[in-house]
Amino acid sequence: VIEARNVRKTYGDRVVLDDVALAVHAGDVVCLIGASGSGKSTLLRCLDLLEDIDDGVIELNGREVSDPLVDPREVRRSIGMVFQAYNLFPHLSVLDNCTLAPRKVHGRSRAEAEAGARELLVRFGLGDRVDQHPDRLSGGQQQRVALVRALCTGPRLLLLDEITAALDPELVGEVLDIVRDLARAGTTMVLATHEMVFARDVATRVCFLDGGRILESGPPEQVLVTPEQPRTREFLRRVL
Ligand code: ATP
Ligand code: MG
Repeated sequence: VIEARNVRKTYGDRVVLDDVALAVHAGDVVCLIGASGSGKSTLLRCLDLLEDIDDGVIELNGREVSDPLVDPREVRRSIGMVFQAYNLFPHLSVLDNCTLAPRKVHGRSRAEAEAGARELLVRFGLGDRVDQHPDRLSGGQQQRVALVRALCTGPRLLLLDEITAALDPELVGEVLDIVRDLARAGTTMVLATHEMVFARDVATRVCFLDGGRILESGPPEQVLVTPEQPRTREFLRRVL
């Protein structure tokens, strides 16, 4: 689905991503782990073309989208991204939050967009919230709406950046359950997370980032249980 090769990203003279290679195939659930500042968010933002890269290539479905001539907005139509802070539109109802992009960007009719959004909202336990505004919802509910909003356009790839990091611990589970559901349904995802137990549970592959490099990558049992790299072991010792 998406592939990054030799990706390099700098901010001023600081190298934030260094020769990163990542190939994500349909149905993959790739978890990015690593210390704060290791480059997880930057990598996701580069994949979503929210950041220009200094070197390397990003291909989406075989097309080189990192080419400056490609319109990032058009590319982002097939990608859904959810951030740590839910960023819902405060002045719109839950339903309108979810139907805006399908209607304005994908040209769906209101009826079609609303039917699709309602179905997802019901599936994720938000059926009784469609007409409310985001400020009436808990953080966990807001983040579930943000996931529905990202799914409403039928993306081929979901990028999730620590979507539970801003939540109270008791609300983390309800959001992770949805991601687990999506993973089981074969949704292709790349997610940055500090939830190692969750990563072990849902990931088809775990990538450990350290100083902007993917130091180690492989099946969750390997990277999280029997890592080869001393840096990975040290990181896991600190967080587990
Ligand atoms: P966290 O776990 O805290 O979210 P992260 O792995 O997502 O960390 P990034 O946010 O990708 O890390 O940051 C990687 C590095 O890039 C950090 O050193 C950070 O300070 C730097 N960085 C990120 N965004 C910018 C920016 N807009 N300008 C300058 N430096 C930045
Ligand atoms: Mg981050």
